[in-house]
Amino acid sequence: LLQAQDVRKSFGATEVISGIDLEVNQGETVVILGPSGSGKSTFLRCINLLEDLNGGRVLVDGADVGFEVRNGRLHELAENKIAQRRADIGMVFQQFNLFAHMTVLQNIIEAPVGVKREPRQEAIAHAKELLARVDLNGREGAYPRELSGGQQQRVAIARALAMRPKLMLFDEPTSALDPELVGEVLATMRSLASEGLTMVVVTHEISFAREAADRVVFMDGGVVIEEGPPEQVLGDPREDRTRSFLSRFL
Ligand code: ATP
Ligand code: MG
Repeated sequence: LLQAQDVRKSFGATEVISGIDLEVNQGETVVILGPSGSGKSTFLRCINLLEDLNGGRVLVDGADVGFEVRNGRLHELAENKIAQRRADIGMVFQQFNLFAHMTVLQNIIEAPVGVKREPRQEAIAHAKELLARVDLNGREGAYPRELSGGQQQRVAIARALAMRPKLMLFDEPTSALDPELVGEVLATMRSLASEGLTMVVVTHEISFAREAADRVVFMDGGVVIEEGPPEQVLGDPREDRTRSFLSRFL
């Protein structure tokens, strides 16, 4: 479903992503681990072209996020077309950034109604289904300030799912939460993974990687150091750099 091919990104003279290939199949959950500054967030932002690439391509469901082929040649897509393709990709950040002056329901239906022109009643019915999926049944009338951080993050997940994305990206979704609230968000993500949502998750929660990931990717210095099934990468890593990174979590 996702094919990232030789993705490169520099800021000024500094190359931060130095040729990453990543394929994610439909229904797979891939966890990306790596030290601070290794380029995890930048790579996620490259996947949905929030960053201009300096090289490589990203395809979602066969469609190039940034280019199209016309007359046998590759053309860069206009920003409005990129925005359309980007709608296939949902993203959840460390900071949930809900609209404070809107209820939970309004937060969730804003983009499907405002951007996708989905009929309001349909969007509301879908929002209620999604709230049940993130274990917030009946909270559609609440304002963000009335919710805990864990509940707000689960609303943010529902809001991203409301656009019916083919792929979901999570960038350290639990690292801004109080420790006692981390578990409920991870539980929601685990259930989404087991329902067959296609997800790429950057996290330091090794237990989540062990239980929910189909594949674990360890990156450092803007490249993939190793990847494989969680038992192998977490339990018996091939590379010294992976081993020394993981030893910090023991
Ligand atoms: P963390 O675990 O701390 O979130 P990360 O793996 O997500 O780290 P990135 O945020 O992707 O790392 O950053 C990778 C490198 O790129 C860092 O050296 C960072 O300083 C640099 N970088 C990121 N964004 C920019 C930017 N907009 N301009 C310049 N440098 C940047
Ligand atoms: Mg980051």
